[in-house]
Amino acid sequence: MLQNILLNWYLKNKRNLPWRNTTNPYIIWLSEVILQQTRVPQGLPYFQVFIKKYPTVKKLAEASNDEIMKLWQGLGYYSRARNMHTTAILIHTQFKGIFPDNYTAILKLKGIGTYTAAAIASFAFNEPIAVLDGNVFRVLARLYAIDEPINSTSGKKLFTVLAQTFLNVNEPALHNQAMMELGALVCKPQKPLCNECPLVNNCLAFLQGKQQFFPVKVKNVKVRNRYFSYFYFLVHKQTCIYQRKAGDIWQNLFDLPLLEWDQQVDNEIILNELKNKNWFSPTKKQSLYLAMQTKHILTHQRIFANFYIVKLINKPQMGKEFIWINPTELKKYAIPRLLDKFLKEQKLI
Ligand code: SF4
Repeated sequence: MLQNILLNWYLKNKRNLPWRNTTNPYIIWLSEVILQQTRVPQGLPYFQVFIKKYPTVKKLAEASNDEIMKLWQGLGYYSRARNMHTTAILIHTQFKGIFPDNYTAILKLKGIGTYTAAAIASFAFNEPIAVLDGNVFRVLARLYAIDEPINSTSGKKLFTVLAQTFLNVNEPALHNQAMMELGALVCKPQKPLCNECPLVNNCLAFLQGKQQFFPVKVKNVKVRNRYFSYFYFLVHKQTCIYQRKAGDIWQNLFDLPLLEWDQQVDNEIILNELKNKNWFSPTKKQSLYLAMQTKHILTHQRIFANFYIVKLINKPQMGKEFIWINPTELKKYAIPRLLDKFLKEQKLI
């Protein structure tokens, strides 16, 4: 039986990862949230820091949101961290710290989708429910040479049924981990290592020599271009930041004051707008220069950022949301990766 072959392969070849040796749903949840959209080598150090600082759901619930965002900095997809905190508070305050123990109840928690709910339910409670992440989609699509797009509604339904049918109901936790591990280590997106694959004799894509054609995806994602002019103000050894609000990228992270445009604009337009806002006007003792230009790619956005260093003699009149701090304090704040890149490149932190 294919499932047994897969299981034997897994037991011999699995990586020894810290969240594999536990059935603690909190630890499994934490690892799954960190590893969504993140590869193991990048996610592992974050997991280790989080689990050390917040060894229980109670500790995570009691932490401040700013502290969590600071530790999360660099992982991206910040709503994951916010939702994780909200859910930890709910479990701590309303469920007496006890994690729900079945798929249906876990799925109701904020920030937990079908994949994570299935992972927690099967890994922690051995519930016979199949996980379906990018790795599993790829293995199944190739194994059965399925050309239904994995990101279409009908494709998702089809793969959900198939994954559940393929599940080894006697060993759901091990089976799910084996599928994910096979996708990560052997059935890689580019250049799958078919010679090392335990399923090679039954793989239709391999037998047809069409591994690279599966899985099929429909391209329907629109990417939005955004143009940011950032200002690193310097006045009396202080600089200015603000906390980003809901309804846009990087909610709750701290950022430099910026102007946003719908296209690239020249310096004259930027200077005019700075004057209109009373943020800056050039004099002998005040200067502004472009320190860095860069492009930053997010899932659905492409940000073209210009960073200006602005030296002033007096603090400009700005809204209450702006706070002035010594630049050495910037390290304490959770900031977007784009800003971190600028500060490090300019040796400002
Ligand atoms: Fe993937 Fe190759 Fe294994 Fe098929 S034989 S499942 S394509 S690694």
